[in-house]
Amino acid sequence: MHEKTAHDAADSECKTDNQANNSSSTKVNVIISDKYILPSEEIIRKCMALHVADDWYAEPEYNYSAMNLEDSSPTPANCTFIPLRDFYNSADENLTQLASRAKSILSWRENTRFCSKCGTQLTDAKNLSAKACPKCNSEIFPRIEPCIIVLVSDGDKYLLVRHAHRIQNLYACISGFVEAGETIEQCVRREVKEEVGINVKNIRYVGSQSWPFPDQLMFAFRAEYDSGEIKVQEDEISEALWFDKNNLPAIPAPGSVAHKLITGYFG
Ligand SMILES: [Zn+2]
Repeated sequence: MHEKTAHDAADSECKTDNQANNSSSTKVNVIISDKYILPSEEIIRKCMALHVADDWYAEPEYNYSAMNLEDSSPTPANCTFIPLRDFYNSADENLTQLASRAKSILSWRENTRFCSKCGTQLTDAKNLSAKACPKCNSEIFPRIEPCIIVLVSDGDKYLLVRHAHRIQNLYACISGFVEAGETIEQCVRREVKEEVGINVKNIRYVGSQSWPFPDQLMFAFRAEYDSGEIKVQEDEISEALWFDKNNLPAIPAPGSVAHKLITGYFG
């Protein structure tokens, strides 16, 4: 098994912002200036001078800068904090993509400080979305974790699950990390079998979305029930039930991949 549990893949889809904040030393929100753009380098330099930001980087080719603010820092002048999850349902698609990229790269930078080959402290590469080792000259680029998320159907019914470690009143899709050596379709079959004990057929890729909590790329699938009895993986799944697609329970929030799958956004 992957060192993370299978359910970590979409864990943050169903966490509250407080829960997500508690899992990280940095804020999961994004700062937007009054002009509705990511903060300028000028704002970031002021924050660094005031010692309220602990890391920053800029990508001039994408015309934005990003920083990690200390948890206790005030919101910079002329800026607003917006929960990043809200972006997925409300903001312009290009801005959402930039905010998502910023969140993912800041998380990666925070967790990638030493060379994995020789142990030397890394520096920013000339290309600022990478890091470089001054001793062995390795270049290290941001990593993305491929994950699957799948909506299983049987006629007009959807199989939805309540996860043991997420918001208890939400019913979501089955999801998990792709393991070494397997295809994303094999991952769909394995995750469904592991989590609810059934076999699926007619697996169909329907779309994808970046999910930077911290670094997932979610591959979304539809699949049909084939055979087997539901038997949940109890340490991960509280309940797995069939629901009429016209009479659904509470599902993850708009903007999440699960919501898009269940509501047919992906087709
Ligand atoms: Zn090195």
